[in-house]
Amino acid sequence: MINKIDHIAIAVQNLESALETFQNVLGCAPGAVTIEEVASENVRVAFITVGESKIELLEPMSDQSPIAKFLAKNGDGMHHIAFQTDDIEQETERLSSLNLHPLGEPKEGAGGKKIVFLHPKQTNKVLLEFAQKHH
Ligand code: ZN
Repeated sequence: MINKIDHIAIAVQNLESALETFQNVLGCAPGAVTIEEVASENVRVAFITVGESKIELLEPMSDQSPIAKFLAKNGDGMHHIAFQTDDIEQETERLSSLNLHPLGEPKEGAGGKKIVFLHPKQTNKVLLEFAQKHH
């Protein structure tokens, strides 16, 4: 089952500058922000808590990062929407049964969550992520 929008992700060239912008826009306290590196995706990630959901800012750590390729093509901008689920395996099976094909098996993403993506060509050009929170 999908519970809520977990986060909306934005690809950025400069994490510090984008963080400042979004903190100003949202008027949030420094405590609302966490920053981490996700080696498997070659990105630096900042999460800004906004009520029940988060804004995720993604900065590439190298040219090999999928985010670097996205920025080269599109520049800064919205990258994906993530939905929170209780059971990512069940959700992956449900999607497959509808002929929607997740990109690979669920893997560990930012915040130690299990995540899987759906290719934007199947979902009106919006990249969708499904994320299972910690239990
Ligand atoms: Zn995400």
